[in-house]
Amino acid sequence: MEFRKITERCHYFSGAVNIGYIHKEGQGLLVDSGIDKGTAKKVWRTLTDNHLPLDHVILTHAHTDHYGGASYLQKELPVKLHAPRLEAAIMGNPVLEPIYLWNGAMPIKQLRNKFLEGEPVSIDGYIYEGKQSLGPFNFEAVCLPGHSYGQVGIIIDEILYAADSYFGTDILAKHKVPFIVDADATINSLKKLSGLTFKGALPGHGEYEINIEKTIQKNIDCHSNIKQFLSEAINASPDGTSLNELLIEMFENFGLNAREIGQWLLFRTSFTAYISSLIESGEVIISINKHTPWLKGNPLKISK
Ligand SMILES: [Zn+2]
Repeated sequence: MEFRKITERCHYFSGAVNIGYIHKEGQGLLVDSGIDKGTAKKVWRTLTDNHLPLDHVILTHAHTDHYGGASYLQKELPVKLHAPRLEAAIMGNPVLEPIYLWNGAMPIKQLRNKFLEGEPVSIDGYIYEGKQSLGPFNFEAVCLPGHSYGQVGIIIDEILYAADSYFGTDILAKHKVPFIVDADATINSLKKLSGLTFKGALPGHGEYEINIEKTIQKNIDCHSNIKQFLSEAINASPDGTSLNELLIEMFENFGLNAREIGQWLLFRTSFTAYISSLIESGEVIISINKHTPWLKGNPLKISK
C-alpha cells in the first residue's frame, strides 16, 4: 500500500482497494477505511509517520473492503464516521450482506467471513447528495447507486473519489462480470459521471486518471454486452429458459470461475440485477415453469 499525492491536499493509499485522504487546516479526512483492522492500522501508522491528522471518515458504501477497517479506527481514535443512510444500516448490521446474498435466509457459516461481513460500526452522520461540509472540508457528494444501493462518490478540491461506481479497465477485464445490484442504476451512474466536472478521478479499484471518459465507456460497454448476451440467450429459444440454466450459460460464456460459494453468490446477484432490468423494461417475462423461475422473451416487445 503506497501513499500517493494527487494535489497539495488530496492523497490516496494505492492498493487492491484505494483509500482516499484529504488534508486541510490541520484536519484529516479519509475516504473509506480498507477491509480490516490490519489495513486501517497501516493507514493510521503512515499518517502518523507523516505527521498527518485524522478526524473524519466517509464510508462510500457497505462493502467490507471499503468499511471493514472503520471499526478499528472508531475504537482507537476520536474520529467521526459518515456514510449514506441505507449503506449505514448495513454497516451497523453487517450480517445483512450474507443475508441478502443467501436469499434472505439465515446465512451459512461459510458466508460469515471478513470479505462478506465486516465489523459493525456506528455511523455518526449521514452523507446526502449535494454540497456539504465536515470540519474544514467542503465537498460535493454524488449519489452513484448500482454497484450498491446508496453508494456515494465525493468531489473535493476538484478530485473525484469515485468509490466503485466504475472500475479500472484491468479490473474490469479480470472480473468479467462486475458486482452490481441494479443494472440500470449502474449505467445511469456511469453516464452521470460523464457529466461531472473534476480534474482527476480515483476509482475504488484501479488507477487514478485525469480523463476517465474511455474507462467509463468500457464500463458501460461491459454492462451492455452482458445484458445483450442474456437477452439473446433468452430469446434463442421460443419456449424460453429456466433462470438456473441461464445463469450457467452466463458462467460458461464469460469464462467465470467461482472458487467458493461466496464468490458464486456475488456473480448470481449481478446476474439477477441484469435479469431485473430485462423484466422491468418489459423485454422479458418471468413465470414459474417446472417448479422453477422461467424466462421468456416478450413477443409484444422486440428487444433492441
Ligand atoms: Zn464495492
